[in-house]
Amino acid sequence: MTLRIAICGISIEIMLASPMQTDAGALRTYSPAQMRDDDLWMIRGMMARLGEDKAIEAVPLSWVSALPGGAVTQAAYAAAKQETLRLLAANGPFDGVLVANHGALEVDGLDRDADTDFISAIRQQLGPKVPIGVALDLHGDMTADLLKAATVFSVLRTAPHRDDKETGYRAADMLLRVIREKLAPRKVAVRLPMLIPGEIAVTSEGPAKDLYGALPGYDAIPGMLEANILVGFAWNDRPWTAATVFAMAESDAALAKAQALDLARRMWARRAEFTLRMETAEVDEGLARAAASPAKPVLVSDSGDNTTAGAAGDLTHVLQAAMSRAPNADIVVAGITAPETVARLLAAGPGKTVEIELGSEHISRPKTRLKVNALMEAGGEALRPGGFQPIRAKESAWAKARIGKVIATFHARPVGIVTPDHFTAMGIDPLAHQTLVVKLGYLHPRLEEIAARHILLLSDGTSQLDMKRLKWSALPRPAWPLDGEFEWAPEGAVYGDIE
Ligand SMILES: [Zn+2]
Repeated sequence: MTLRIAICGISIEIMLASPMQTDAGALRTYSPAQMRDDDLWMIRGMMARLGEDKAIEAVPLSWVSALPGGAVTQAAYAAAKQETLRLLAANGPFDGVLVANHGALEVDGLDRDADTDFISAIRQQLGPKVPIGVALDLHGDMTADLLKAATVFSVLRTAPHRDDKETGYRAADMLLRVIREKLAPRKVAVRLPMLIPGEIAVTSEGPAKDLYGALPGYDAIPGMLEANILVGFAWNDRPWTAATVFAMAESDAALAKAQALDLARRMWARRAEFTLRMETAEVDEGLARAAASPAKPVLVSDSGDNTTAGAAGDLTHVLQAAMSRAPNADIVVAGITAPETVARLLAAGPGKTVEIELGSEHISRPKTRLKVNALMEAGGEALRPGGFQPIRAKESAWAKARIGKVIATFHARPVGIVTPDHFTAMGIDPLAHQTLVVKLGYLHPRLEEIAARHILLLSDGTSQLDMKRLKWSALPRPAWPLDGEFEWAPEGAVYGDIE
């Protein structure tokens, strides 16, 4: 008998403090054909697992994604959710449903975690019997209702992320086991009172390396399906913001609970070791070090304005510092959101000098304005880098200009410059320059590969890394490290299939 498995999802990481709303225009909706053919994040792993088996019909329905940004508007979310539910009803019945979400979805005015809302709506429509398998990014949250709504979850195990394909594959594989072996998995989670911005949980080093490295050991325990760690999305001041660990057993709730508690204890014990484990510097110092570095290219990340964490990408502090503090350095400052500047440069055309005002388009605070002459070099109506793209921003107009010695790229919408292909698509050879500034925190894997050195700037902005500087009101307290040391035991923070 052929099993029919649907695939859908709304995968967006929301930064509530971002000044840019995620409206319908910011969303990209992928068609079934694109879900089959376009090597999409997580979906590609799900398709690979389903494709291994002739007795399975994979039915991709739709997948909605966007560059991280501010809360999704109610209208855009409602439309995407209703369309997903309509497609599930119109194309069913299904033996199982796979959902590729991120896990930090927030909707304007919705007083509920939106991944929970979306997957609960799917559960409500399908009824209790159809298994749902969910693949999540590790920078997401896990509510009690979400844990209950889906049958099984897989979560990324690397940051920077290199395993979306494996994670999608695992979600599909577990779903098929549940269907064929008629399993009723039991799931137990522990909420840790820890705020961990992604940059301090890089899985190649420190406690994150050890904790994520321990997961296959939990998975291998007889009767277990998987254990997972969600670092959480630390910047959002919400009641459900947290690091979470959870364990899933084939049928034994006590086994799941024991493993979840064990993993939670191990993680809590290592809390003080979650620190930045990369070269960091204040803005001027970092640019000076990059300029003096014997090896190139030096990748410099403007961590306060990290578009891949949801910041707007519109801040020009680092560009302005590059122009004044290191005026003779060979430096590219890429990925600045500045729609009016792009329009003016494109209207002028290559070879023309245009006066622009840096900072005049800031929607993020603080503002620093500076009038400069920009020599327009190249531009286009859409930036289309080749190769596999982990994050696909909505294509938008761009322009490359030279301001003094500095090369800057401006974009009509936020963009994530996460691969060398983004540079080459703008006529920039990334290997030929001393310093490349990108609006990221940690480097994405393909930029890490070309970097002779990486310096993370402790710059101001929406995604800045000192959590103590942010205002908190909804976050449950105490939380480490905001409140220093306090007593905590995982037994009081456990939820899911417990007696
Ligand atoms: Zn992530």
